[in-house]
Amino acid sequence: MNIILLGPPGAGKGTQAAYIKELKKVPHISTGDIFRQNIKEGTDLGKKAKEYMDKGLLVPDSVVVELVEDRITWPDAKNGFMLDGFPRTIAQAEALDESLAKTGKAIDAVINIDVDFSVLTERITGRRICRKCGATFHVKFNPVKKDGICDICGGELYQRDDDKEETVIKRLNEYQEKTRPLIEFYNKKGVLININGQQDIDAVTKDIEKALK
Ligand code: ADP
Ligand code: ADP
Ligand code: ZN
Repeated sequence: MNIILLGPPGAGKGTQAAYIKELKKVPHISTGDIFRQNIKEGTDLGKKAKEYMDKGLLVPDSVVVELVEDRITWPDAKNGFMLDGFPRTIAQAEALDESLAKTGKAIDAVINIDVDFSVLTERITGRRICRKCGATFHVKFNPVKKDGICDICGGELYQRDDDKEETVIKRLNEYQEKTRPLIEFYNKKGVLININGQQDIDAVTKDIEKALK
């Protein structure tokens, strides 16, 4: 099954992806995670992406499309994949369709995690991530047992540079302008599934599970 997780920054895409990848036995492909890994490693791709990410802007389509087109051909994606944070523009979505069509594939489901804009800033600024295993927590909505320490692996938690309030506004604007039109794009194709993302994390997971059956 080829799945896309759609939704504004902070909607809960990464959080839900951790469950769905087990459920559907597909790799979790997060373009944001790939960029952050490249930044950490100091690669050219990382340097290029950082210029935009720090400003809360989308990385240019050409850079992202090339990356994803390659990633979905890896052996682990043979029987399906789950994209998180891609596509983010109509141009990216069209490029993805074309690329999949070459091998007779298509997107089967687009999970649109719907959350009111008013709660996103608090979700994003309270987000904390494990340096070691990448797990996502929240200071208030999904707190760890021991301050600053990952529940899963004991790693150290950190706050993403772009999760500071100044950058969040720009990211939400980018979403409104460039990513939101994808809801209608996939609705027209008949693959859109709307999920109420403004419930407990577990309740959201259950709704997604049901929808993907
Ligand atoms: P995204 O990948 O869409 O940007 P995340 O999954 O990283 O979003 O979630 C953003 C923040 O909100 C994280 O700190 C996460 O723990 C928290 N969060 C995720 N889902 C919920 C939810 N249903 N209710 C409250 N907080 C949530
Ligand atoms: P969030 O879900 O909180 O918005 P991500 O980790 O998905 O965070 O993305 C972080 C940043 O990485 C984005 O603000 C953007 O600069 C860049 N990025 C990730 N995916 C894409 C994409 N598909 N197109 C353009 N930029 C992207
Ligand atoms: Zn961890």
